[in-house]
Amino acid sequence: MPAASPDVVIIGSGMGGATIANGLAGSGARILILERGEQLAARPEARDARAIFQRGAFRTSEEWYDRAGRPFTPGNYYYAGGNTKLYGAVLTRFRERDFEAIEHLDGLSPAWPFPYGELEPFYTRAEALFAVRGDGKQDQTEPPRSGGYPFGPVPDEPAVAEVRERLSAAGAAPYTLPLGIDIEQWLKNGQTPWDSFPDTRAGKMDAETAALLPALRHANVTLETGALATRLVAGQGGRIEAVEYRKDGETRRATAKIVVLSAGAVKSAALLLASANDQALDGVANRSGMVGRNFMNHNTTILLAIDPRFRNEAIYQKTLGINRFYFGEAGGPPLGHAQLLGRLSGAILKSQVRLLPEWVLERFTRHSIDWYLVSEDLPHLDSRVTLDGDRVVVHWDRTNLAAHRRFVARMREVFRAAGFPLVLARESGHQVVVHQCGTVRMGTDPATAPLDPFCRSFDHGNLFVVDASFMPSSAALNPALTIAAQAIRVADHIRANDLAA
Ligand SMILES: Cc1cc2nc3c(=O)[nH]c(=O)nc-3n(C[C@H](O)[C@H](O)[C@H](O)COP(=O)(O)OP(=O)(O)OC[C@H]3O[C@@H](n4cnc5c(N)ncnc54)[C@H](O)[C@@H]3O)c2cc1C
Repeated sequence: MPAASPDVVIIGSGMGGATIANGLAGSGARILILERGEQLAARPEARDARAIFQRGAFRTSEEWYDRAGRPFTPGNYYYAGGNTKLYGAVLTRFRERDFEAIEHLDGLSPAWPFPYGELEPFYTRAEALFAVRGDGKQDQTEPPRSGGYPFGPVPDEPAVAEVRERLSAAGAAPYTLPLGIDIEQWLKNGQTPWDSFPDTRAGKMDAETAALLPALRHANVTLETGALATRLVAGQGGRIEAVEYRKDGETRRATAKIVVLSAGAVKSAALLLASANDQALDGVANRSGMVGRNFMNHNTTILLAIDPRFRNEAIYQKTLGINRFYFGEAGGPPLGHAQLLGRLSGAILKSQVRLLPEWVLERFTRHSIDWYLVSEDLPHLDSRVTLDGDRVVVHWDRTNLAAHRRFVARMREVFRAAGFPLVLARESGHQVVVHQCGTVRMGTDPATAPLDPFCRSFDHGNLFVVDASFMPSSAALNPALTIAAQAIRVADHIRANDLAA
């Protein structure tokens, strides 16, 4: 069996894996990154809405299963850079109170093992690494910041500026979204939105562009693509001895001083469970029995606010957010966050509305403004990732739907007050797992959490899990910047404690 013996092996090159590779690159340690996907090649389909949305040209055909045994394709993306290759590049900080216990309609969102202030300097570094463009002064829920954004905001297009005015007049307090997009560069490569469009290194600050490629400029960092990790070999003495992976039709093995698992919340949990052995019958790093449990995702709804007099000539659209109801109103429970979607077109809508012809849908979208409504999902033991033989089973036992529906109803009122008489809303189903998190959570007690607050496995001192899995709660905001900030924090910790000698 071919073998490699770097100092650090990182499994996955998405938000968590690429950012920690970037943070460790300057240490001089020999780092091997195993990525199951390939680098996304530049090709015309990357800006073709029909190819992306109607034909699913970039999606995996892999199937996961729900608890009833029904298969679904999850909308996960396996490339160097992971899911961030198609992300909306909203790079936001969680709010200060998101790190504390908060009572929701359906129960408690638990506290993180450290307060917001602990992560603040790393948020600042993550924003610098991802060249985030933002404002930071408009939103009432904005947490304390030690500095401004590295770059000023992406401008509102005229149609969006009009909507901002209307919403402000209706008391909705819209604010400028923080975005990891070099808008000039993006538009030079095609007049399309970037949200859910794949980035072939054309202006989106995704994990490959902003973190992985700079890391690979260091001679001590190597990337192997087409390398599917299949098992962590847990040895005696609480250490992970090796990582087994498949590449070019053969099984290979990497042994390293440090193993970082960053395969995404579902796949990291699945890999730990699949690595069960005689000493660890329930899976590796799973003395707590919590690996795979506490799966969270967001409750989301796509909402179209329509006014026949309004003309939407925006190209990218995605510059506004609303947190007016984030922590609730009048003493009520937290409801959620709204943000603009990338501009919808007939070609994009056609993937959801099969019955109407594309040209009808196109006319329709010229008068709509398109939103993504997000509410928090709470962790609990029965919402979980398990294995059934080789099958990955994701039983998302969702919570807080009543709060989400209350939020959608409240937003309908807001849009009507802002002069959009017709509001259409569609709630997302269980296959939309784009904000999956929480399956290998951090905590201070090894009996209830697999990871310590630096994402180190309580069971295996040389194993770290650094991706959306570590999150104890999901907040109601996009997760990627929080994953990146924690990855930088963990990289500093590893450099000081594990690679220093
Ligand atoms: C369409 C879309 C829009 C989104 N928009 C936003 C947004 O605007 N803002 C935001 O914050 N978040 C957004 N997200 C979510 C965001 O992309 C994820 O939260 C983030 O990428 C998760 O990071 P991660 O490190 O956990 O996993 P990923 O980024 O998914 O990385 C996991 C990596 O591991 C690799 N991998 C998996 N299994 C193996 C294996 N066995 N061996 C080797 N490699 C493996 C995968 O190929 C992948 O590269 C969006 C996601 C999607 C799909």
